Amino acid sequence: MEKTITGTLPVMEHFYTLQGEGYHQGRAAYFIRLGGCDVGCVWCDVKDSWDAAKHPQLIIEDIILKIEKTPAKLVVITGGEPLMHNLDELTSVLQAKEFETNIETSGAHPLSGNWNWICFSPKNLKNRCPEFYPLPTN
Ligand code: SF4
Repeated sequence: MEKTITGTLPVMEHFYTLQGEGYHQGRAAYFIRLGGCDVGCVWCDVKDSWDAAKHPQLIIEDIILKIEKTPAKLVVITGGEPLMHNLDELTSVLQAKEFETNIETSGAHPLSGNWNWICFSPKNLKNRCPEFYPLPTN
């Protein structure tokens, strides 16, 4: 029996497109931009994402149904700072359905979720979370 999907996440926007940068550049991907960020970069080009309460809580199951209607096999979770939310349910369901999961994060919050690729972009305004991004010991 399939596990019931119960969670919601604050979603600023979600859409099918091509990944425009990085290692997976050019691949068809479904982007989910989550609301919420407490890092406060002055150069941020998505300041509207900062207040998670401004964005609707979407049911994870409904998002996945939309993804399944596209050709995407890669799902990119971005923000905002997506790790302000627990991403275990979203990513475990996606991976069970054989989607690849990628995340773009500043590393300022503890890692949750199951990932095929982590794009780690630390910011100097807020320390990265030491338990998941340890400094070298030498
Ligand atoms: S971490 Fe990203 S979303 Fe948050 S303020 Fe900085 S650039 Fe904007």
